[in-house]
Amino acid sequence: MRFGDERESSNFEDATGRSGMGFGGGGGNALGCLIPMIASRFGIGGVIVLVIGYFLLSSLGVLGGGGGGVGPSTQRSAPAGQSTLDANTKRFMLQVLASTEDTWNKLLGGKYQPTTLVAYSQAYQSGCGAAQSAMGPFYCPTDKKIYLDTDFFNELSQRFQAPGDFAQAYVIAHEVGHHVQDLQGTLDQAHNAQARAGEADGNAIQVKVELQADCYAGVWAANAKDPQGQPVMEQGDFEEGMRAAEAIGDDTLQKQSQGMVVPDSFTHGSSAQRMEALQRGFKSGDPSVCRF
Ligand SMILES: [Zn+2]
Repeated sequence: MRFGDERESSNFEDATGRSGMGFGGGGGNALGCLIPMIASRFGIGGVIVLVIGYFLLSSLGVLGGGGGGVGPSTQRSAPAGQSTLDANTKRFMLQVLASTEDTWNKLLGGKYQPTTLVAYSQAYQSGCGAAQSAMGPFYCPTDKKIYLDTDFFNELSQRFQAPGDFAQAYVIAHEVGHHVQDLQGTLDQAHNAQARAGEADGNAIQVKVELQADCYAGVWAANAKDPQGQPVMEQGDFEEGMRAAEAIGDDTLQKQSQGMVVPDSFTHGSSAQRMEALQRGFKSGDPSVCRF
């Protein structure tokens, strides 16, 4: 992506230095706190929408959890209270966030209310309960904030083989897509429909929510311009996003974690579905193609 001196969003909280205080380190309780979230994602304090079935891997022990080891293996050792956020990563995230604000404000006729991005490290408290890096990035409708452990970007490039700046931007734009759904009342609608549905139908609704957010990420990318009006997307960027969408499809994650695919339990969509949704939004640039 071609970001120069674009503005950085101020809707940001750096909680990396505050992370983990009073949370996490609970020693092998990943199953205990993550499984109920899968079962009743929409039941606890509002809707928690996870970007990725990443928690599946960790709850099944694929990430070698236990002993509180739900986080990435790299240990950061900054003094308590001090930010561990890399300056370049921060700048990039805030430029992407600012770009989503400008783009969605234009697309929604000046009616966009920005979300706040919270960067944390390993564990933090969100308005929707404890945030843990193993959950992957997520949007919390209760406090209207996005929670992201930036180590996830490393996971994306290394574990999921999806490197590149647009792969990272896609993750943020997907979460912003959930915020747009929240503003449009789609999340409430989905929540209500899920309350009446059985488990398989409930999962199908969740998949639709996720695919629309992927599509919205594509719409943002298609419309993202620098201050001179030039597209910020460069050659090869879109392919990075497609690789990420492929790598974090539920079927791919499930195959990696349990060796088989169980479509009824999909909550984010298959790799093919996620790639199709991102592409549909990107090709059109019009949010109306992202039907729910
Ligand atoms: Zn999502």
